[in-house]
Amino acid sequence: MKLLYLGTGAAEGVPAAFCHCPVCETARARGGREIRTRSQVLIDGTLSVDFPPDAYWHSLRFGVDLSAISHLLVTHSHMDHFYAHDFVLRGYKYAHSMTSGTLSIYGNAEVGKVLLECTRREMREEVRQGISFAELSAYRTQEIGAYAVTPLPARHSKAEEAFVYLIECGEKRVLYLNDTGLLYDEVYEHLHGLRVDLVSFDCTFAHRTAGEEARHMGIEDNMRVKRELECVGAVRSDTRYVITHFSHNEAPLAENLAKIERDYGVVAAYDGMEIEI
Ligand SMILES: [Zn+2]
Ligand SMILES: [Zn+2]
Ligand SMILES: [Zn+2]
Repeated sequence: MKLLYLGTGAAEGVPAAFCHCPVCETARARGGREIRTRSQVLIDGTLSVDFPPDAYWHSLRFGVDLSAISHLLVTHSHMDHFYAHDFVLRGYKYAHSMTSGTLSIYGNAEVGKVLLECTRREMREEVRQGISFAELSAYRTQEIGAYAVTPLPARHSKAEEAFVYLIECGEKRVLYLNDTGLLYDEVYEHLHGLRVDLVSFDCTFAHRTAGEEARHMGIEDNMRVKRELECVGAVRSDTRYVITHFSHNEAPLAENLAKIERDYGVVAAYDGMEIEI
């Protein structure tokens, strides 16, 4: 499986859209890898996890064919993870010779509602014909394209049941933990003995420890989850750990993330990073 991290910032991006804090000013001045757009990971070119407002920019910046995305897993309905307005343009006069004629979207009930809300006014019937939505249930594994996908409950929102995902393809397994705080005990039970190849952590808070009830994690929280995963045999000695979804409030500049990488043995994702397992 090839994972392409297209967006590695939190909701407001780095630099944040309306912010002039020193971190955002530094990121603006440096450019390059210090620029972090909203969350999206593309797997093997056809399965996207989340579709943020920056998806169009990702296609321009990294040469991604958005029409080749045939399956879209949505973690939750927050605007940085699901920008459904763009799907109005997936067909009719707006898109010719698309690589995949259809797009199947998967998520919780709220994601289905947001899809309708955002496309109700402008989506033409022939465009809607090419797009389907299926509601997922926690712990129920579903065949999605070439993948077996299991939604697991995230600790993230009181307003909806956000999901993190276990994504399997053949012998390979990815545990994608965005957006979430510490995992629930039942999630560890479900992952017992699974031996995941790559864990992708929500590390919004970077150096700051978020603790029990938080809706995101920092690196110490990530390490706590890692230890729990080790306890239930869900990871191996060669499992890889990626951190992502960084907030401007925690100074996710190159030198700070390099220190976290050295100290904790993780890989800090950047926009455009590809990793193969
Ligand atoms: Zn988010
Ligand atoms: Zn800022
Ligand atoms: Zn969120």
